[in-house]
Amino acid sequence: MKLSSAFIPTLKEVPADAVIPSHILMLRTGMVRMLSAGIYSFLPLGYKVIKQISEIIREEMDEIGGQEFHLPGLNPKEIWESTNRVEAFGDTMFHIKNREYVLAPTHEEIMAFHAKGALSSYKELPQIWYQIQTKFRNEPRPRSGVIRGRQFLMKDAYSFDSTWENLDKSYELHDKAYRAIFDRCGIKYFVVGASSGAMGGSKSEEFMVKSEAGEDTVAHCESCNYAANVEVASSRIEAVNRSEESKSNYEISTPNVKSIDELCAFLNIDERQTAKSRVYMFKDKPVLVLMSGNDEVNETKLGSALGEGQVRPCHPEELADITGADAGSIGPIGFGHRIIADNRLKDGNNLISGANKNDYHLGGIDFKRDLPEMEYFDLRTVESGEGCPRCDAKLDVFRAIELGHIFKLGTKYSDALGVNFLDENGKAQPIIMGSYGIGLERVLACYMEQNYDERGVIWKKPLAPFDVHLIALNMKNETVASKAAEMYDELRKSGWQVLFDDRLDASAGFKFNDADLLGMPLQVVVGEKNLKENMVEIKIRSTGEKIKINLDELIPKIKQLI
Ligand code: ATP
Ligand code: MG
Repeated sequence: MKLSSAFIPTLKEVPADAVIPSHILMLRTGMVRMLSAGIYSFLPLGYKVIKQISEIIREEMDEIGGQEFHLPGLNPKEIWESTNRVEAFGDTMFHIKNREYVLAPTHEEIMAFHAKGALSSYKELPQIWYQIQTKFRNEPRPRSGVIRGRQFLMKDAYSFDSTWENLDKSYELHDKAYRAIFDRCGIKYFVVGASSGAMGGSKSEEFMVKSEAGEDTVAHCESCNYAANVEVASSRIEAVNRSEESKSNYEISTPNVKSIDELCAFLNIDERQTAKSRVYMFKDKPVLVLMSGNDEVNETKLGSALGEGQVRPCHPEELADITGADAGSIGPIGFGHRIIADNRLKDGNNLISGANKNDYHLGGIDFKRDLPEMEYFDLRTVESGEGCPRCDAKLDVFRAIELGHIFKLGTKYSDALGVNFLDENGKAQPIIMGSYGIGLERVLACYMEQNYDERGVIWKKPLAPFDVHLIALNMKNETVASKAAEMYDELRKSGWQVLFDDRLDASAGFKFNDADLLGMPLQVVVGEKNLKENMVEIKIRSTGEKIKINLDELIPKIKQLI
């Protein structure tokens, strides 16, 4: 591709709403343009990378026996109603006015529709069906460029099995394919597991990439690869001390002291000597939750600890009714209702908490002695720097982007749509399904989030749109122009994808800047001075290293470097 005639509209400045590196760089390198909020057009350079990502995905899906489909994006609404998913998607689903159609946000229903009656015997199972296709979701806050779009490309795959053991196999195959895909794309990722443990197992795992642009917060251990959403993550952390001698309860006047920080400052003590109280309503009954110092109650964990039923924080008026005190002065002694505590407080003594009387706290609390009935659970949200629950290393807590998702669906869709097969005994059974998605734009964006510097993108094979950026420094010089043109042909004949900067009027500095911005793995610089010695210069984009070589060595050298 010759730059003089290519449509690669690079930009110096980007709109203010582009704040994350991948979004800025996609705009600056002319890969995408926004049409409307959350709706992006891919320009030739960007689409070239999308096609390369698609090919990698196809190869790995075919490798596990996947067969490619292409389903319509425009779907009859009726089929989505049969699984109650028009309601489940709510405003996220796009509806076509005056017609009973919706735009598909995913394709479980449609694949199940095609499986119905067509996969009628256990002998026809298993099957893995996939496609790479446009999805439509009316995301309330499209942002971060193509990472959260209202129209985006997804590779979605569906497995159909006759037994739960076979579903496990299909799931493992996808896990393997996903790892191969992201490895080949050169993306550093980790896997976050979530298992509901329900009968038949609705296990699911998410492939995540660390990024400030992400909307999930995860805890990750670099050393053993433990990873979990902070909603459920646990950590290894010191429990509060138990001193040999337990003081008896004593009241402390603490005027205007509301927070743990204020209490610690007022009494000149460490926050670990305090127990913070939070009151929740569970099934219309108050529950006091005790945390050590400033540790935060994790409401997902609280929900699992309490079990089935609605949990919500108490309103201030309710607090006064139940305890006779405001939020800053509540404590366990004399509370009179159910009390649970975080594991970290287990058997603590000489602790200070609220006295259930405004402007007073109570010291000398011994949980073992004063509250022997109290139940302990893991209730805190983990923080960076705490110990990994699986190994000796420390956890890192950060924001992450979900790149892909593998999910054991079970029979939810087969039941709703009546997708049955006949088992070995001739008995009708619902087909057991799995569903597996990868966002193609997210693969692209995540790669870019991990591969750039202050000068631009850093492409590596196999995602690089071109392998070589050939720069003719001065096209007005005949020797340079003809030698560069010769090299352009020769490189392409050897199988390389070449972007040739043959622009007549652009200065050398301008060409160098563009080459670094666009970021192809290798730059081959053809200049008058070097040509006199029959030499050219190769620059490796990722390291900035420059190598001067003889013209005859060009092809083998490029082969060696890529
Ligand atoms: P998220 O929690 O980020 O909204 P999701 O759980 O809705 O994702 P799935 O329904 O599992 O995502 O879709 C499979 C994959 O499709 C995701 O892992 C992600 O890579 C991609 N994806 C989902 N929503 C979008 C979107 N709005 N824009 C771009 N890609 C998306
Ligand atoms: Mg979503």
